[in-house]
Amino acid sequence: MISKEVLKKVRKIEISTRGLVNDVFSPKVLESLPGSLAIGHTRYSTTGSSTGRNIQPIVVNYKSGALAVAHNGNLTNTAQLRSGMEREGSIFQTTTDTEIILHLIARSQEQLLENRLKEALSQVAGAYSLLLLSEDTFVAVRDPRGFRPLCIGAFEGATLMASESCAFDIMGGSYLRSLEPGEMVVVRNGEMESHRLPPAPEKTPCVFEFVYFARPDSRIYDEKVDKVRRRLGKYLAREHPAAADIVISVPDSSNTAALGYSSESGIRFEIGLIRNHYVGRTFIQPGQQQRDHEVRVKFNPVEGVLQDRSVVIIDDSIVRGTTSRKLVRMLRGAGAREIHLRISSPPVSWPCYYGVDIPTREELIASRMSVIEIQEYLEVDSLGYLSLEGMLEAAGEVGPMCSACFSGDYPVPITDELGKEVLEQ
Ligand code: AMP
Repeated sequence: MISKEVLKKVRKIEISTRGLVNDVFSPKVLESLPGSLAIGHTRYSTTGSSTGRNIQPIVVNYKSGALAVAHNGNLTNTAQLRSGMEREGSIFQTTTDTEIILHLIARSQEQLLENRLKEALSQVAGAYSLLLLSEDTFVAVRDPRGFRPLCIGAFEGATLMASESCAFDIMGGSYLRSLEPGEMVVVRNGEMESHRLPPAPEKTPCVFEFVYFARPDSRIYDEKVDKVRRRLGKYLAREHPAAADIVISVPDSSNTAALGYSSESGIRFEIGLIRNHYVGRTFIQPGQQQRDHEVRVKFNPVEGVLQDRSVVIIDDSIVRGTTSRKLVRMLRGAGAREIHLRISSPPVSWPCYYGVDIPTREELIASRMSVIEIQEYLEVDSLGYLSLEGMLEAAGEVGPMCSACFSGDYPVPITDELGKEVLEQ
């Protein structure tokens, strides 16, 4: 149960606080949150700006009481829904697509939260793994295509939900299973019920979660990320061998793929770059100048490892090319004789509209340059990307997946205010 008093506190944290979870949720704040139901979200903004108002969970009061929602993913028909609602007089507090779901729930005449939600979701399109919390009900739902992950765990008789299973391990809980695409799980009075949304023509979970996003100690889509990521590295070694002395990774995101490359090629794995853990993900820094600086602060080469060596360096992806270009110069500065860059995914050439922050087509290096041009721009001795087929095969048993950022093949159209398709082509 969330009391009104607690709700006020939650709101306060939401609106005024940005930062690391540990800093935001100090022991004092946690102690002030009584009750047996809770949801949380560390938001990585892919729609709407990174302002305080857009911090999630969004908490509102409506005719049925308090309601909180956290959303991983992006809706694709937001413009049309939002402009229609605004014409009818709706007021929006945030610039996120998530708030639209709250409006649709509030407009529903159904009594139960799960039925309101089903009605709301029948009107939205795109990617959503959602957690909702009312005063007595907890709902988790994954869109019918299953773009983003969401799984169920257990801890001392309680039900847990998270995008990635490592969240359960950290608190001593256990992993049960992934929610199916289109599955809605409702927890009320300690009872759990599973419902189904109308099915999509095809399931298309995001492959980029395996390439970069998910932690290797997690399971997503009921697959071990570590296993898939090693396979990405193995297949990369088969497709793009290199005559080199050592394999190094760009820590931490390509560590596992680099191990896969090393075991398949028989080239020794070495730690050639040390990552400073006190800076965030380079990519998320807003301006280019800031991004350049962050790369220098984030990685430092180990000279003794690199000196006079021919090096295979593995990265999981090249987006703008900022990271790779800087890293290559750093490796040369540390004495590397040859640099063979290998990427454990195909060229990222298209933006994502389903919840991964990938910049516009103009900013994506692979949409402007061929592989050979990128090789020259990055000043490497050779460059090899894993093929689309290789990547999808490495993903294993999952079945068809969304690989739109690599292929430009978008499974769900993005529409404008009039409902017209607006995909960049
Ligand atoms: P860039 O410097 O723009 O080429 O960024 C490439 C690096 O950013 C890679 O090393 C990835 O590990 C990381 N990366 C790729 N995609 C994303 C993303 N959507 N959000 C944050 N980091 C990313």
